[in-house]
Amino acid sequence: MQLEEDHLGPHLNGKHLRPESLMMSYGYNPEWSEMAVKAPIYQTSTFVFKNAEEGKAFFELAYGLREKNAEEQLGLIYSRLNNPDLEILENRLRFWDGAEDAAVFASGMAAISTTLLALLKPGDVILHSEPIYGGSDYYIKNILPKFGIQSIGFQACATTEEVAQLLEESGVADKLAMVYLETPANPTNHLVDIEGCVALARKHSTEEKKVVVAVDNTFLGPVFSHPLKHGADLVLYSATKYIGGHSDLIAGACAGSAALMKAVKGMRTFAGSMASPWTGWMLMRSLETLKIRMEAQARGAETVAAYLKQHPKVEKIYYLGDLQDNPRQQAIYNKQCTAAGSMISFDLKGGEKDAFMFLNSLKLIKLAVSLGGTESLAEHPASMTHSDICLADRAKMGIGEGMVRISVGVEHPEDIISDIEQALAKVAVAAAAEA
Ligand SMILES: *Cc1c(COP(=O)(O)O)cnc(C)c1O
Repeated sequence: MQLEEDHLGPHLNGKHLRPESLMMSYGYNPEWSEMAVKAPIYQTSTFVFKNAEEGKAFFELAYGLREKNAEEQLGLIYSRLNNPDLEILENRLRFWDGAEDAAVFASGMAAISTTLLALLKPGDVILHSEPIYGGSDYYIKNILPKFGIQSIGFQACATTEEVAQLLEESGVADKLAMVYLETPANPTNHLVDIEGCVALARKHSTEEKKVVVAVDNTFLGPVFSHPLKHGADLVLYSATKYIGGHSDLIAGACAGSAALMKAVKGMRTFAGSMASPWTGWMLMRSLETLKIRMEAQARGAETVAAYLKQHPKVEKIYYLGDLQDNPRQQAIYNKQCTAAGSMISFDLKGGEKDAFMFLNSLKLIKLAVSLGGTESLAEHPASMTHSDICLADRAKMGIGEGMVRISVGVEHPEDIISDIEQALAKVAVAAAAEA
């Protein structure tokens, strides 16, 4: 009664099963725990060896002291190295991106920092899109230089030719070790052409050194965007967002080829940045509804965006379902996104005062940073998520004082719109009182 499996995963009647069909039970055997249909939480720090010889053999494999025999499995040793909840979860998570392996971390930042530390060394250069998540930006610009790793940033809306030229002009193109992308960019939803960046990375790769392309896929992945299919080497996630999806946990993930993931997991062991068994279990619960949540949120966002677009107090919206005025972005969208997701930013015609009046007036939508959860959230990028970017850079990125960002949840879209409608009505009152 077991599914047959090849290197691409389980199949039935000659067809590979889709990820959403595998999230409930793949990789877990009820016989491991009293026939429970769900994997239990293996809330344990360490695992008992049957005998000393087994302990020795497990360590030999874990530390790479010898090659694995044909049927040998990596044994359970200690929960910083491996734990059943994390292993089952990672074996499920990889299917969404068609990756050979995945690793789960204590946070998105733990996934990103551990991956960069695993793959970069002193003297290396990392080329990255801008804007990127504030924590990643800080890590690349303030922490990596301590280890002699230099960075070059390019605007997310730049063309591949412009990026190539920027790299040439830097004079350090020969030191390029990684291209790091975040697409769509937060909060402007600018898309970066993954294939263009992969070609650039390949051009600067040599026999001895492959330039790795890593993509933070938090905003659309792992359902609506699959960077590995466009040639990227690694995908990174804040699993706190859509993957967790209920705003009740902090976690991160990385997925890619077995060879790269071996290096990333090796660093994770020594950074101690793995997720706990409890978080692993929560994420398995979340993966079961990942696709239907993301689809419902994307449908809701489409309705909300259409409402915002026609509203007289809204100057401009930044939404992936509304790119018709930008053929170049639309072409990238058509190539690498299968839906527009549920992140919408918009500019109010006034400045901070009007944005604050709007945010303070919301009743159903919560005023909070973070995104991707079942509840709708709204925030003010200029004074919150992007406040540590200097004014000039914020202006370059298109993040104004009147901008509001909304993460659309699974509430009825008409109820979300009712809330937005009454909050926008208050903005009018504020503007009139001022005049
Ligand atoms: C939230 C976020 C991160 C950081 O993740 P944490 O789980 O908060 O550590 C990284 N990248 C993006 C795009 C994010 O939205």
